[in-house]
Amino acid sequence: MPRNLRNKNFKQGRSLLIRLDHGSDIIAEMTEIAGNLEIATGVFSAIGALSSAELGHYDQVKHEYGKIQVEKPVELVSFSGNISARDGQPFVHAHAVLADRDGKVLGGHLMKGCVFAAEVHLQELLGQPLVRVHDPTTGLKLWGEE
Ligand code: ZN
Repeated sequence: MPRNLRNKNFKQGRSLLIRLDHGSDIIAEMTEIAGNLEIATGVFSAIGALSSAELGHYDQVKHEYGKIQVEKPVELVSFSGNISARDGQPFVHAHAVLADRDGKVLGGHLMKGCVFAAEVHLQELLGQPLVRVHDPTTGLKLWGEE
């Protein structure tokens, strides 16, 4: 794939500050917001707290995610990611750093997170939408051409 297909230029669209609903799943909520606001491409960050979470760690040899269950309240120290299209739908890719009551942190690919409170900055990006396609090298769906 030519390198230029991996580097797209966007204009800034809406810049939104959003409070997520208590008890919602943070990934489902971000996906729903992207759909409702018709945001095909964007980036986001958030801080807050989760009552539980599921982190993923991608095994680069087996090409599958291992899961790490976090069954306790944690600070959402950092949550960042992006929105692009996968299988014709908005897809939220997010990573998070979580801290427990002792300040110890865990991090990874965030698969689920039950929102205690979360404040999101969502930046819409306007331009030719990014589309995720299967990448045989990594086994992941990465930005490419359909
Ligand atoms: Zn990830």
